[in-house]
Amino acid sequence: MSSNNTAQKASDNWRDSDWQEELKQNITTVSELESHLPLSAEEKKALQGVADRHPMNIPRYYLGLIDPSDPNDPIRKLAVPSTDELILAGAMGETTGDPYGDDKHDKGNGILHKYPYTALVVATEYCSMYCRHCFRKRMVGLPNDQTVQSFQQAAKYIAEHTEIKNVVMSGGDPLLLPTAALRDMLEALRGIDHLNYVRIGSRAPVVFPARLLDDELIDLLAEFNRDKPLYVPTHFNHPNEITEEARIAVQRLRSAGVTVNNQAVLLRGVNDSVDTLTALMDGLLQIGVNPYYLYQCMPVERVRHHFQVPLKEGVDLVDNARRKMDGYAKRFKFIIGHDIGKLEICGRIDDKLILKQLHARPGHQDESSRILVRQLTDNGGWLDDLPEVQL
Ligand code: SF4
Repeated sequence: MSSNNTAQKASDNWRDSDWQEELKQNITTVSELESHLPLSAEEKKALQGVADRHPMNIPRYYLGLIDPSDPNDPIRKLAVPSTDELILAGAMGETTGDPYGDDKHDKGNGILHKYPYTALVVATEYCSMYCRHCFRKRMVGLPNDQTVQSFQQAAKYIAEHTEIKNVVMSGGDPLLLPTAALRDMLEALRGIDHLNYVRIGSRAPVVFPARLLDDELIDLLAEFNRDKPLYVPTHFNHPNEITEEARIAVQRLRSAGVTVNNQAVLLRGVNDSVDTLTALMDGLLQIGVNPYYLYQCMPVERVRHHFQVPLKEGVDLVDNARRKMDGYAKRFKFIIGHDIGKLEICGRIDDKLILKQLHARPGHQDESSRILVRQLTDNGGWLDDLPEVQL
């Protein structure tokens, strides 16, 4: 049997096993990986060095989406460590471990209160897969039980801050918590009248759809949704991730009344082509997921050098792809998630990039809704790389 068949066979079993048992079958070592993907002795040694710094964790289902004969397979790039990750910063410029400025807005108990109306709570730091492009790479995969215990304190903070209109439960992947723990967390939010809705950020529909086969989880989400609307922002990056299994996972969420929105990241070698972006947005609509954001890849350590696309190239790519999309497919916003707030990349006029700031930090509300113009450069991949333009 070829290694592809082995991986495929492994992925075929995903529906039969209990999700927690299935999670234990994840591929976490280079020697396990070797039985699914061909690796040279040199590659094995190098990959172990990378995995020692940022752990590898790949569900069998997701591994089965990789074509083992293609070293440039896009799913492989998202899941399998690469020696490029040994480069802290490279051709694209400086990097940081905290590009979104999360640490500055940390109120303790896992709460990030960056915008007056939104609170983000880190509910867990565990994910069913450790994505190689993760912008929370510095913390994902670290053992931390503290976050679960402190959720009640986080809920107290939210209850006391009546300006908070919505909560994002994030991580990590909160859907990977045991259903009982998730129930306690949702219960703590259910009675807070000033919350209009709750979001649970999860990549499980994409990388670990087995989690959504749990009836108890779906019942819990449906029950909460009767009191407060529940949204699941998810994270499909490539049309090869839109499988029958992913469709079923999304369908199960939708059967609980949950709205599923997608937040993709523009990634070099993964989705940086007009055809791939178009197929991604069209494919999402086919399975009932709303295209919502396409993020510019952040200047993250061990990520930026090999994944970030220069803005000059990215803005044209997105505009050309949008020309092929219908209205629902092109509803997504092309976004820079910056320390100063969230900025929409609207387009370019000649060599000037036009942006609109959508959200601003507390105390800087006058910056919200402003238009920014920056000079495009050949290699600039982040707002700070582009000189300001005075109009
Ligand atoms: S699922 Fe999300 S938080 Fe977890 S590793 Fe992937 S990108 Fe990071």
